[in-house]
Amino acid sequence: MRLVLLGAPGSGKGTQAARLKEYLQVPHISTGDLLRAEVAAGSPLGLQAKEVMARGDLVSDEILLGMLRDRFSRDDTRAGFILDGYPRNLAQAAALDELLASLGQKFDAAVQLTVDNEQIVERLAGRAKAEGRADDAPDSVRKRLQVYDQQTAPVIEFYRQHGQLTVVDGVGSLEAVFNRIVEAIAPEKAVG
Ligand code: ADP
Repeated sequence: MRLVLLGAPGSGKGTQAARLKEYLQVPHISTGDLLRAEVAAGSPLGLQAKEVMARGDLVSDEILLGMLRDRFSRDDTRAGFILDGYPRNLAQAAALDELLASLGQKFDAAVQLTVDNEQIVERLAGRAKAEGRADDAPDSVRKRLQVYDQQTAPVIEFYRQHGQLTVVDGVGSLEAVFNRIVEAIAPEKAVG
């Protein structure tokens, strides 16, 4: 199964991807996690990305594509993948199609998790306290939501117009949302 997870920051993509990874037995590729690993390692790429991420902006398409190419060159992605955090703009959506085509692949579904704005802000405030991520500070959250509306929402519209979008209600317990996703992508495997 090749899945692309879409949704605003705080919509639960990372949490659900971790569950789906176990369930589908495919790697979870989170561009946010990949970038944070570079920042933590203090690599040249990490040094470049650090400030951009902390203020809530998008890291350059070029860096992202390079990172993704690297990740997809690993054998484990042949079984499938759950892509989380990419694509975040229309250029990245085109780059993803090209990358997959070059590997002779297509994704099976783009799943959008929907959560209303008020709840997003609440969730991110909670995470800021729990995890202390630099980009969960109020100014950065505001910026990330703005970037999402301006750059990532068009990607969702693009997939919708191409009949590739599956919309899933992201409000409810972890378990309830997980079951909705499974039902939407692989009904034969859903439980309950
Ligand atoms: P969230 O979805 O909660 O904002 P992520 O962990 O997915 O968190 O991303 C954190 C930050 O990493 C983003 O705000 C951005 O700066 C950077 N980032 C992640 N994915 C991408 C991407 N595809 N393109 C550009 N920047 C990205």
